[in-house]
Amino acid sequence: MQNMLDSVRGERFEHRGEIVVIGLGRFGSALALELMRLGHSVLGIDADPGKVDEMKGELTHVAQANTTNERALKALGVHEAVTVAVCIGSGVEASVLTTALLVELEVKNIWAKAITADHGRILQKMGAHHVVYPEAEMGERVAHLVTGRLEEFIRMNPSPSEAETVEPDDEFVISQMIVPQRFAGSTLGAAGIRAEFRVTVVAIRPESGRYTYAEADTVLGEADHIVVAGHPDDVERFAAAD
Ligand code: ATP
Repeated sequence: MQNMLDSVRGERFEHRGEIVVIGLGRFGSALALELMRLGHSVLGIDADPGKVDEMKGELTHVAQANTTNERALKALGVHEAVTVAVCIGSGVEASVLTTALLVELEVKNIWAKAITADHGRILQKMGAHHVVYPEAEMGERVAHLVTGRLEEFIRMNPSPSEAETVEPDDEFVISQMIVPQRFAGSTLGAAGIRAEFRVTVVAIRPESGRYTYAEADTVLGEADHIVVAGHPDDVERFAAAD
């Protein structure tokens, strides 16, 4: 019931200066490396000297520190950063304390990783601006993939902390699948997919080709991959249309 992007709401900030990534575990290190690849400067911080050593040379700066200590954060200039990502998950106490300190230091754009909905709610109450749920999201996504019909499943909303307030009808996903057998050979215009299934075919990729936008005269080949948007139940129903 969650999506990392869904928690991107409210005010957005232009990234200035170094982005600080706290916690260089699997998630934090992947995030930091991708930010570097995108051309940002990154300061990676971890309490574990081994993790810091691993990322030395990969990130702009690395530092070993316990981020539940305010003086340590200030000594590293974290209070001057615009964007800080707290990537401590299983250490909930450290995650919450670190986030609380960042709020106190008036960091403008705090992102925090949560491992459960409760953890996420606490982080949001503490003042984190964005909360992401990578494990929960991946679990849900894989559940849709292991059944074999869908090749991709990305939920646009809601995040776990909002789940109770979002109407089931408002759910929306983008997915990828092989053309359901019944529609192989027909054009999108003739297939009447939107009327019957309330889903929209957004793009198509032939077996060995590139993605192109779907048009009314697009022919759905038997082994083509299609990108389909709609309510998750409708998408699953369409994928199962043999
Ligand atoms: P992942 O799944 O990303 O590997 P995780 O969700 O299991 O991580 P943790 O193991 O709690 O999360 O923490 C991730 C990283 O954060 C670890 O490398 C850990 O050393 C670091 N970390 C934990 N507590 C602190 C702290 N107080 N200060 C700085 N770094 C910390």
